[in-house]
Amino acid sequence: MSKLVLRFAPSPTGLLHVGNLRTALLNALLARRAGGTFILRYDDTDTARSTAEFAAAIARDLEWFGIVPDRVEYQSARLDRYEAAVAALKAAGRLYPAYESEEELTLRRGLQRSRGLPPVYDRAALKLTDADRARLEAEGRRPYWRFKLEPNPAIWEDGVRGPQHVDMTSLSDPVLVRADGTFLYTLTSVVDDLEFGVTDIIRGEDHVTNTGVQIQLFEALGGATPRFAHHNLLTLPSGEGLSKRLGHLSLQSLREEGYEPLAVAAISVLVGTSEAVAPVESLDALAARIDLSHISRAPARFDPAELSALSARTLHQMPYERVAGRLADLGIGGGEAFWLAVRGNVSRLAEAQAWWHVISRSACWGRDPQDAAFLESAAALLPEEPWDAGAYRAWVGALKTVSGRTGHSLFAPLRIALTGQAKGPELAALLPLLGRDRVLARLRGVDG
Ligand code: GLU
Repeated sequence: MSKLVLRFAPSPTGLLHVGNLRTALLNALLARRAGGTFILRYDDTDTARSTAEFAAAIARDLEWFGIVPDRVEYQSARLDRYEAAVAALKAAGRLYPAYESEEELTLRRGLQRSRGLPPVYDRAALKLTDADRARLEAEGRRPYWRFKLEPNPAIWEDGVRGPQHVDMTSLSDPVLVRADGTFLYTLTSVVDDLEFGVTDIIRGEDHVTNTGVQIQLFEALGGATPRFAHHNLLTLPSGEGLSKRLGHLSLQSLREEGYEPLAVAAISVLVGTSEAVAPVESLDALAARIDLSHISRAPARFDPAELSALSARTLHQMPYERVAGRLADLGIGGGEAFWLAVRGNVSRLAEAQAWWHVISRSACWGRDPQDAAFLESAAALLPEEPWDAGAYRAWVGALKTVSGRTGHSLFAPLRIALTGQAKGPELAALLPLLGRDRVLARLRGVDG
């Protein structure tokens, strides 16, 4: 089998949201799993709405997940290629000029509907003579160009949806070149997919009809048609569709809220499939769980509450090596022992900072007078370092015997004296991190 070449083709007209991420990751991770190529293609021919800032934000978003494309392309830099394709389509008689205004077309569609006919473009422009065209252009009309569809249905085996069929006679001949000479995505995408040797197009199911048209374009331009897979779309919990324009669930906002990228990736890929939405330990582990045929047909609700829980669970099982750099960036020391002690008690990585301050900064939380004597004996019984799990057990055992306390009345005062908190990581793990001097000082109610 030939090497997989996949692509993600956003238009840089807004911030990516989790639905865009689903498309991006299905492509990036399947390419990665197969040792193929992943292309990031900016569909930026709409110069009025595309910006360099949004393009940079897209690259930054992908990088947050550790996705670095093998190749990056900008459609705005490839206009000569589209020009050449247009010339070829004109030469083949598949592209014809049309002059109707939007108002004229709307009127015509209304008439068709009132007669019970489908509102499909009637190809009136194909009947124009040279003289008609000259007259229209003399009136100041500029032509735009429609692709003449063949009537035979477009048929393909979809990676998600199985056998697909689009009735081309129900579609209007699509405009590929606007009157101002700019190209439409329907054309530019096919030209690029052909030239870059894209083997599989994985995208949202909002493109199913486009696929019918684009299959005819692949054929008209004389290239191999890729395989297609159309995944279901993600929605807000209310069921409302996600909008880039309205800034729904943008990756940037999720990053700012401190969610784990691996959890955002896992939920975006796994929700709305027959796979369980569960923590993964790496992108490769997530890639291993992708099966296009396990994606369901119904839209999938993206629930931020589910993300929150998944993000916490992802941290709870995160190995130290995977988080060491980020802990250092947050000014957190303590190495692996610190991380293993606190990871089960944080739902956002930044929360580890507060625990690091408990460990590393001198503090005193005072003592409840009722516990003063108990804490004094705890200090007196504290063994010499080094402390292992056995030393901790022996210390607690001795305290129990001396004080007669058990359970909450034994542990709560120790925890509050040592950390200032009623809840937190295992004391057995915290003690060696605090060290003997600090533990002694805090048990005695003095700064340490
Ligand atoms: N720019 C198109 C979009 O964002 C790309 C669709 C495709 O993958 O072909 O919807």
